[in-house]
Order: sequence, then structure tokens, then C-alpha cells
Amino acid sequence: MNTAVQEQSFGSKPEECRDTDHYLEEYIGGFVNKWDDLIDWDSRAASEGDFFIQKLKEHGAKRVLDVACGTGFHSVRLMEAGFDLVSADGSPEMLSKAFSNGRKRGHILRTIQSDWRWLNRDVHGRYDAIICLGNSFTHLFNEHDRRKTLAEFYSALTHDGLLILDQRNYDAILDLGYSSKHTYYYCGDDVSVYPEYVDHGLARFRYAFPDQSVFHLNMYPLRKNYVRRLMREVGFQKVETYGDFKETYRDAEPDFFIHCAQKS
Ligand code: SAM
Repeated sequence: MNTAVQEQSFGSKPEECRDTDHYLEEYIGGFVNKWDDLIDWDSRAASEGDFFIQKLKEHGAKRVLDVACGTGFHSVRLMEAGFDLVSADGSPEMLSKAFSNGRKRGHILRTIQSDWRWLNRDVHGRYDAIICLGNSFTHLFNEHDRRKTLAEFYSALTHDGLLILDQRNYDAILDLGYSSKHTYYYCGDDVSVYPEYVDHGLARFRYAFPDQSVFHLNMYPLRKNYVRRLMREVGFQKVETYGDFKETYRDAEPDFFIHCAQKS
């Protein structure tokens, strides 16, 4: 496991780095170790409340697959809420951090390294719900990868399963420019997050920490209705989209959208 790599590499023209596979080079040890300063588990738990727990309970979900577990925030919360969790991620650095975060809180996380595009090769059995949270889906840079990923999620769900997938409000970023209340997801103090470069094919976010370290993530700026359409086209029957955890909102307002897609 390459936790020794401390510098990200986007090549000589970072704005041209638009590659689905590149996430593996973005979540290097140094950045992964800082991730929890960025998201701040306590503030994030307080800000999102029991939104996901309620949605999963309303749906009657018991077996839940966290496909973008990152450092384990939602996996641990949902385990503590009584769900039967399996935690997957494509990044070995993230999985290792999630496992040690789980241990610190008295849990043994069941972790699986899996890239979403080949999820069913590594993850077996069917789940009542899949969560893909923290703006993770935007790491996919082309439509083929998005369709393949949604199809893999669909197939890993039981016949009436639920997919909960969130994303930044890129419509607002593309159409109106970036502004963030910084309240819900990235709750850490003293961490600056903003898109350094945006066009219709790339949102390059800059993350700066108090120790002067700076990291970037290159992401695809997904429009809300495009994601909803893809979900329906892959076979999800009902897609409900919340804005910053609320059912009603004006489109430009939320920082994040949360899609709840049902198979039946
Ligand atoms: N869900 C966590 C959170 O909210 O804190 C982590 C979010 S982080 C922005 C995105 C996560 O998605 C990373 O852990 C990354 O390794 C994972 N990821 C990105 N692309 C992936 C892919 N193609 N397959 C599997 N995991 C992927």
C-alpha cells in the first residue's frame, strides 16, 4: 500500500487531466490522512442529522453497501444505527483509513476493494440499499463509465433496492459561479475548499489545510437532471432528489443534491 506518496500528480497541464482512473492517484496517503479534518465527523453528523438513517429505515433496508466508503464516516454511522454494513472503495488508502477509523470506534469494518465499474466481480450477494455519498460519483469522467457504474449498482441491489447517491450542485457552479454555505459536507474549520478551475467538462477543486498543504481533486461537473435521467435509463423506476436534505428548495440554493433512486 503506497501511503508514502505525498504529492499528487496531475501532469504538466492539470486542467487536461480528465480521466476516470485518476482518482487512485488523487487519494494519496497525505490527502487521505487529512480527509477527516476536512469532513469533521462530529459536525458532519450533526449537520446531516439522521437523513440517511431515516431514508434507509423508511425503505426497510437492513443490508447496506457503502460503495464509496472513503475514511468510513457513513459506514461507521450506519453500523452504529444497526444496519448490516459492507464498505467498499476503489482506493486502498481510503479503505485502510476506514478500517483503522472503525477500529478506533470499536468496529471491525468489512471492507472490499472494488472499482464501481466492476463492482459485481468483487462484491457478491444482493443489498437492500447502496449508498454512494460525498460527491463521489463525479469522479467518473465519461458517460460510458457512469452508465456502467449505475448498472453495476442496480445489479447489486435486491429487486426493490434503493440507491442513495449525492453530488455537488454543479448546475449552480456552472451557471452562477461557486458559492458555498460550507455547512453540510465539508465542515472542518480552517480548511479552504473551492473550485480553482471550472468548465463544462471539469471542476478542479482545491483543498488547502492549516499546515499549508494543498491537494486537488479533478471532477466532472454533473448536472442534476442529467444524473436523474441516467438513473431512469438504467432502470430505476422512481428518482427523488433532495437539496441539502430538504424536499423543497430553489435549484440554485443547495450546495448538494441527494438522489434516492428505487428499483421498484
Ligand atoms: N464517501 C466518503 C465521504 O463522503 O467522505 C468519501 C468521498 S470521496 C470524495 C470519493 C471516494 O470515491 C473516494 O474514497 C474514492 O476512492 C472513491 N472512488 C472514486 N472513484 C471510484 C471508482 N471508480 N470506484 C470505486 N471508488 C471510487
